[in-house]
Amino acid sequence: MIHRIKDEFVNVYIIDRGDHLVLIDTGIESTCEKILKKIEELGKPLKTVIITHYHLDHTGSLKCVKDGTGAKVVAHEEEVKAIEEKTGVRVDVPVKDGDVVEGLKVFHMPGHTRGSICLLDEESGALFVGDLMVERDGKLYEVPQQYSEDPMMNRERIKELLNIEFKAIYPAHGEPVLENAKEKVKELVESFSKGETN
Ligand SMILES: [Zn+2]
Ligand SMILES: [Zn+2]
Repeated sequence: MIHRIKDEFVNVYIIDRGDHLVLIDTGIESTCEKILKKIEELGKPLKTVIITHYHLDHTGSLKCVKDGTGAKVVAHEEEVKAIEEKTGVRVDVPVKDGDVVEGLKVFHMPGHTRGSICLLDEESGALFVGDLMVERDGKLYEVPQQYSEDPMMNRERIKELLNIEFKAIYPAHGEPVLENAKEKVKELVESFSKGETN
């Protein structure tokens, strides 16, 4: 069961793992209150927070969530330093490509940032993409290039998604893509070769 919390322009996701909860990203500073409220509503402990990358619209509530829940913090090993510097919160579990945490397989997707990750829920086929792509009006786009450390590398990562089995895409910005997710990635990749930019 996936719960989405939207705060202004950003989404975070809470995955219900039966006896505990897992949080993907923490949104902006104001998101903490919404996250803690949702956790209370669900009545289960938050055990793990996974951060897709260090940007402040993903780590803005990390300190508050950590202080409020004591959940362990997971991020890619190449993102640890940036996250710790931005938030003052220790990353408890550095991960790398291919690791599985909380039933989520880690894909290292450098480009937007050097330690960006996507997370695949192997059971449901839900793919959490962080800022690899954004959704707008039912279509997928690359994140505006000025926000990426290496936008062309980010594009290559998007192409790699075509080799991954997934059913739905959960972006940090825009609506989740629950239908024809693979088709929509294909359309985006095709737009690259036509020279279209975002
Ligand atoms: Zn970002
Ligand atoms: Zn973002």
